[in-house]
Amino acid sequence: MTSLFDRFEAAFMPNYGVPPVALARGEGSVVWGTDGTEYLDMFGGIAVSSLGHAHPALVGAVSKQVATLAHTSNLLLHEREVELAEKLLELLQAPGKVFLANSGTEANEAALKLAIKYGKTTGRSYFVAAEMGFHGRTLGALSLTGKPSIRDQFGPFPLDVRFVPYGDADALAAAVDGDCAAVFLEPTQGEAGVVPPPDGYMARAREITRAAGALLVADEIQSAIGRTGHWFAHQADGYLPDVLTLAKGLGGGLPIGACVGFGPAATIFEKGDHGSTFGGNPVSCAAALAVLENVDLAHVRVVAAELRDGIEAISHPLLKGVRGRGLWLAAVLTEDRAAQVQAAAQRAGFLVNAVQPDALRLAPPLVITSAQVRSFLTAFPSILDEAADG
Ligand SMILES: *Cc1c(COP(=O)(O)O)cnc(C)c1O
Repeated sequence: MTSLFDRFEAAFMPNYGVPPVALARGEGSVVWGTDGTEYLDMFGGIAVSSLGHAHPALVGAVSKQVATLAHTSNLLLHEREVELAEKLLELLQAPGKVFLANSGTEANEAALKLAIKYGKTTGRSYFVAAEMGFHGRTLGALSLTGKPSIRDQFGPFPLDVRFVPYGDADALAAAVDGDCAAVFLEPTQGEAGVVPPPDGYMARAREITRAAGALLVADEIQSAIGRTGHWFAHQADGYLPDVLTLAKGLGGGLPIGACVGFGPAATIFEKGDHGSTFGGNPVSCAAALAVLENVDLAHVRVVAAELRDGIEAISHPLLKGVRGRGLWLAAVLTEDRAAQVQAAAQRAGFLVNAVQPDALRLAPPLVITSAQVRSFLTAFPSILDEAADG
């Protein structure tokens, strides 16, 4: 009998490689493979499954909506999209306007088109982004993406994007002048390995862009929706961007993205400037509303501290330390053995993500329990032992 893995390899383009596990179902922070193996999900489908798997509120909201009205197009409006935009603005506590898309990269395409239009109307011609940053795979977002391995072979790109070292405010100040249309930054770099900037960096970026008249676009596609213990990472950093992009955790597993403009940036798009057939579809909006009603920030902070403190307390020659914010951490290794740790963790019943050769990303569902965190912490030293030997 041909395995699911062989069938995957035969039927799919090779861009993902063949994943190591085939999942069948999940409940809370636990998932089961097609062979019945149980795993603790410690990376939440890349910080997406905010409510975990099969959360009753998400199941209920999505089931009800799909049985009522699944699609309208944007030629007609529906209640869920209005409720969702209002709820986002309420949580953001700032006057703004929302555009809904289907994914992270599309949220950034919307932000980029806003920034291009802003540049054209104010005589600004270039963009600034960070080295090793990740903003998505479609061509506009890719042109802002600083990771050479995913960017370089698809260039050159038609936009003038200048890259600065992440976290270096002086380099940013030197790169941004009155010709700069916009600066795109992640508040913590996710795909680079959950790398937070030095304290005060994003607030400095806000000052620098404001002084130069450039837009500041905060890509919170991975950092928002409670992931850091705050609804949005920028709220803890004490600044408001001009444009904010969201996706991943917002739909709790249903595809949705959002681009929010604040102040004058809220109305850069005029009628006809942008659109999406599926963007803000009722089912994804119902899912996002269920997420926003059920994420418990106090719980996130408690279990996040338990996870961080627990990793910090482990003394192991392969473990250098832990970085990140909230339930969005990287266990940093002393050697490039993240792939071996991921494999050893899988054998021990834990799904983690080797986000960099020397870093494991931990971004579990926000509903993970203290007992589940403890079970991972108890197993982690022997997982590291096995990866160090293997
Ligand atoms: C994942 C991610 C994206 C791209 O989102 P997709 O939904 O995969 O298109 C963009 N920016 C950041 C910071 C991300 O983490």
